[in-house]
Amino acid sequence: MLIDGKSGKWEIVIGLEVHAQVVSNAKLFSGAATAFGAAPNAQVSLVDAAFPGMLPVINRICVEQAIKTGLGINGTINRVSVFDRKNYFYADLPAGYQISQYTRPIVSGGKVTIDLADGRTREIAVTRLHLEQDAGKSLHDQHPTKTYVDLNRSGVALMEIVSEPELRSPDEAGAYLRKLRSILRYLGTCDGNMEEGSMRCDANVSVRRPGAAEFGTRCEIKNVNSVRFVMQAIEYEARRQVALIEGGGTVDQETRLFDSDAGTTRPMRSKEHAHDYRYFPDPDLLPLELDEGVIAHIKREMPELPDAKKRRYIAMGLSDHVAALLTAEREASAYFEDVAEELTSKIETPVPEAAAAIAVMRQTIANLITGKLFAILNDRGVSIANSPISAKNFAGLLRLTFDGTISNRVMQDVAEAMADTGKDAKTVVAEKGLRQVSDSGAIAAAVDKVIADNAAKVADYRGGKQALFGWFVGQVMKATGGKANPGMVNELLKKKLVG
Ligand code: ADP
Ligand code: MG
Repeated sequence: MLIDGKSGKWEIVIGLEVHAQVVSNAKLFSGAATAFGAAPNAQVSLVDAAFPGMLPVINRICVEQAIKTGLGINGTINRVSVFDRKNYFYADLPAGYQISQYTRPIVSGGKVTIDLADGRTREIAVTRLHLEQDAGKSLHDQHPTKTYVDLNRSGVALMEIVSEPELRSPDEAGAYLRKLRSILRYLGTCDGNMEEGSMRCDANVSVRRPGAAEFGTRCEIKNVNSVRFVMQAIEYEARRQVALIEGGGTVDQETRLFDSDAGTTRPMRSKEHAHDYRYFPDPDLLPLELDEGVIAHIKREMPELPDAKKRRYIAMGLSDHVAALLTAEREASAYFEDVAEELTSKIETPVPEAAAAIAVMRQTIANLITGKLFAILNDRGVSIANSPISAKNFAGLLRLTFDGTISNRVMQDVAEAMADTGKDAKTVVAEKGLRQVSDSGAIAAAVDKVIADNAAKVADYRGGKQALFGWFVGQVMKATGGKANPGMVNELLKKKLVG
């Protein structure tokens, strides 16, 4: 995406730093619990509160999660990495430093393949992934004159995943975050829940003339907590920089905050006030040395990730678009596979015609899941994991459609009723009397009546207005409450309208 400035076009350059909370029952260097929503300071060990003399002990699970994530983004797992102290003073950081990794991270390099709206994909390079501790949280709204500190998050393991400045639009940044979140969730290494703060993003934004050799000066927008806000913040910030430069000013490298109510960014601290973190290796921790065997073991246990699954679905005959939608969430792909299994497992003969029929059926199933079912979930604000229609019941609904018991139109209503009541398709169809009418006598009677009641339209049609045919079909469907078999309606209408 290029921005149209007064003086011509501008390119946006974006690099993202994502903080992903590691899924682990205990913290990075202590045994305290990490569950979300606990009472303030209920999950704080002496290490997390930085009592004198306390020593950090690394949590093996967190290291394994970082390795898994590194493999999931095709990074290089470094056999030796080093923990450093990043020094700064703040009320929610009792030690006065955060343990992080600086010059020698656990993962170097990597890539994330993003899916763009037009079906194209792009590979975005990842610079590094390192492990670090989270800080505590200052609570400013609990008392009129005091600030309270909650250390539950203090010491929780984070993976910081830094991208190269290769993203070129808010849409690409959104696609990057969604894909990264999808990979983390498939791996089970971060729950990706941005509202609860378990995935947060810093967006670095600069602008330059298209094709310019050098990057412009960047601003960093801190701690944005939804994909939509990241996209809004980038768009606002890029336009602000263009207006500033075109007005004769220059961009100062600074840290900014996004105000989601106003949709704007505002300065937080300038480069002169940038922290000097005085990094140095933490003397309480030895360098982290990984065994090749441990890495190899994790490699063998890796699940199929969204890109591989998407390629498999495309090879299976699904369209690129639907394959991307179904694989974005592991639960959606599992749902699809359950429904497809229910409906196709009984088709035994592996003859070419059966294979072709199954491919068509799969695409239909995929379309209905990403169409009707996703709409139902959206309306009700629930995830597919909590779908009010189980995969088994959805398969039952499709079976009634495929065998002609109900029409496509009625299927839509049955799906809604199933979602409202939790009942299966057969029960809803029986209770509401929605069976498709395939009785040619009944349909013929409806056709005759529509023809008799609309003499003028019939004359128009017979006079050459062929486009009216669809209108007649609609009338007959309406007269039969949408239950008439559409194939039979078409056939009978064609016969009778000729006169
Ligand atoms: P720091 O350590 O100060 O945060 P880094 O060099 O590690 O700086 O960069 C942090 C992030 O900023 C990375 O995601 C990188 O891609 C991005 N970045 C660097 N330069 C630019 C630029 N000119 N415009 C946009 N993003 C940039
Ligand atoms: Mg930074």
